[in-house]
Amino acid sequence: MPATLRKPEVLAVPASVVYSEELETIKQPRRTVTLEDWKIGVFTSVDAGLGVDLNVAHELGIPTIQIHAPHQGNRTQETADEILARLSQFGISVTAVFGGFEGESYADIPTVVNTVGLMPLETRNSRLAEMKEISDFAKMIGCNVIALHLGFVPHDKQDPGYAEILSVTQELCDYAKDNGQALHLETGQETAPALLEFIADSQRDNLFVNFDPANMILYGAGNPIEAVSLLGDKIRSVHCKDAKWAANPGEEWGEETMLGDGEVGMDDYLRALQSIGYRGPLTIEREIPQEPARQKEEIGHAVQLLNRLKKEIL
Ligand code: MG
Repeated sequence: MPATLRKPEVLAVPASVVYSEELETIKQPRRTVTLEDWKIGVFTSVDAGLGVDLNVAHELGIPTIQIHAPHQGNRTQETADEILARLSQFGISVTAVFGGFEGESYADIPTVVNTVGLMPLETRNSRLAEMKEISDFAKMIGCNVIALHLGFVPHDKQDPGYAEILSVTQELCDYAKDNGQALHLETGQETAPALLEFIADSQRDNLFVNFDPANMILYGAGNPIEAVSLLGDKIRSVHCKDAKWAANPGEEWGEETMLGDGEVGMDDYLRALQSIGYRGPLTIEREIPQEPARQKEEIGHAVQLLNRLKKEIL
């Protein structure tokens, strides 16, 4: 079947889902996505996190990056100036600064619940303070988006933890807004409808989504293609990452794979992003820093795949 005729049904919206007029726009492309859009990006790290070094982005000719915030002692003007000098030399722009924290572990799903993001109570206040620092650091490098994994938000809205994490998120949104920034929540742990409700409950106009289709599969949080349609305009940045479903989704991890080898369906994914009028960068994320040569090679493969799909789709 010709590529242009493939899978219109992936954008169908389940009848059971009730949502706002704003999301009605997903039925018609809001804006035409062109080859000038969807700049290729890669997730990078300076001294912390699982991304690649800036040099890899440069060597692969990638024009945009998301960057994992440096370690606590290095969120200084001096570090910012060093990064800015390298970026200027390479002609690379930063589209988001991601927060991450000491003590986080993605070993398995229960460990994520206990260690990741702003949910764990014992580190919540110190990590919120760190996120504010990261917002200030992002401002130093001229970036108007900060992002993070919030952690596992309680599914039951009556759980006191729900109101608590909502309040923390509101405080962070307000801080970011004063710095002229939006806050993007990394997807994965929540289903798309739960994430939409959380954003609506926050009553903040600078809270959006960094969509990661592989995480939906890894955590067993729902079909990523349907999630793109549901989240629609709330998606303001994306990861291009792939994964295979676990035998028991939600109870055990799925398996991250090279882009194109998993079960996201990159063609369907990009078409879904096109249908919601997403024009931002396509940021490749491949979290195997323990194998830097393979990481670079697979990111290079991902760049080729995305460029080929862009030409086919746009
Ligand atoms: Mg991600």
